[in-house]
Amino acid sequence: MRHSIPVETLGPQAPAMAEAVASCVHCGFCLPACPTYLTLGEEMDSPRGRILLMKGALEGELSHEEVLPHVDRCLGCLACVTACPSGVEYGDLLTPFREMTEKQRSRPPMRELIRTLTNQTLPFPGRFRAAATLTRYIKPFKRLLPGTLRTMLDLLPDRLPPRAHLPTVSPAQKEQRARVALLSGCVQQVLAPAINRATVEVLTRNGVEVVMPRRQGCCGALSMHTGAAQQARGLARHNFKAFDLDDVDAVVTNAAGCGSGMREYPLLFSGEAEEEMARRFAAKVQDVSVFLDDLGIEPPPAFPAPITIAYHDACHLAHAQGVWDAPRRLLSSISNITLAPIPEGEICCGSAGSYNIEQPEIAAQLGRRKAEAIRSVNAQAVVTGNIGCMTQIDSHLRRLGTPLPIYHTVELLAKAYGAMN
Ligand code: SF4
Ligand code: SF4
Repeated sequence: MRHSIPVETLGPQAPAMAEAVASCVHCGFCLPACPTYLTLGEEMDSPRGRILLMKGALEGELSHEEVLPHVDRCLGCLACVTACPSGVEYGDLLTPFREMTEKQRSRPPMRELIRTLTNQTLPFPGRFRAAATLTRYIKPFKRLLPGTLRTMLDLLPDRLPPRAHLPTVSPAQKEQRARVALLSGCVQQVLAPAINRATVEVLTRNGVEVVMPRRQGCCGALSMHTGAAQQARGLARHNFKAFDLDDVDAVVTNAAGCGSGMREYPLLFSGEAEEEMARRFAAKVQDVSVFLDDLGIEPPPAFPAPITIAYHDACHLAHAQGVWDAPRRLLSSISNITLAPIPEGEICCGSAGSYNIEQPEIAAQLGRRKAEAIRSVNAQAVVTGNIGCMTQIDSHLRRLGTPLPIYHTVELLAKAYGAMN
């Protein structure tokens, strides 16, 4: 039976939300794919349950107190979208619902503080670098802090790597085949600047000129996925001005969360003056693995010794953007590399933007589950396409006492080309 929600009472995102609700036939095929259902075993913490809860809230039949705890526990991983045979676009319901309810809700003071700290720090590399540097002096006293703040500290390294100073324009190293703009990311450029270095190296080596617009900032994905839509729109508008779309073949990103967020701009800006610009921008966005796979790369030399790699599918690359094969094809082009499938590979690692800060218990259970699954395949390294997953998996492999080197896909390619240690 199809259900409807009163479209006239909602904003411009209402048709997409109503369609997501209406297309769910309650079959339950998505339940075994949902990490929170697997962890908590509650119908209300499954995709089917959450769709009914959000519908109830939108129709005024359920209170926010009844609904929001279950929606807050949703990772936004979109494994339910991959699993759904009816094509329910769950994200089209979840993201606007979070925005709508954000305006009317209040949180306990500590949760509000954590949220403010997260939203005012992570999207701004300068602030984040300063905060991450300061934490070195706070870590010895972390036992005195509340649990959530301790979780935030545990995710940060003791020392930050040196910054990557990349030129505004990096010319192709051989005959030019394309010109792209690279999103430099926010958290990633602080925690793992080597990823941008590797991205520029691999692209230019394959005949791509890379522009890094100097005035660019955070793409807004983190804010968008936590209901802070005004902040997300502000950040996106800034990038609409910073990127010259007519000057490049693609806007390339090497962070799955950013890619999926930017591809959601049309929904974020529906009914806004920049709706057309949002559509044009989203259409230009490509994950670096997809761009390289489409372009075709110079086959990298063989690795010096055989190595088994566990490739982890970042949810925002696989479930949100449908990118499964491109990174595997690129990695398989390196001789001497064997890709080992990770059991339950489609289940989220628990990172999910700021989820491991806002829902640390569930995130920790999922992180441990993922680390155990990776450990079971006896790989010598882990490769993935998202900084959040890299941090989460690294942290949980260490907690199990079995640390492994973790690379971004482009880092492994750069290593194979001999451009990285
Ligand atoms: S699989 Fe799709 S149609 Fe079935 S319950 Fe889940 S969301 Fe609804
Ligand atoms: S987005 Fe992920 S956590 Fe949320 S309902 Fe879907 S599968 Fe479950």
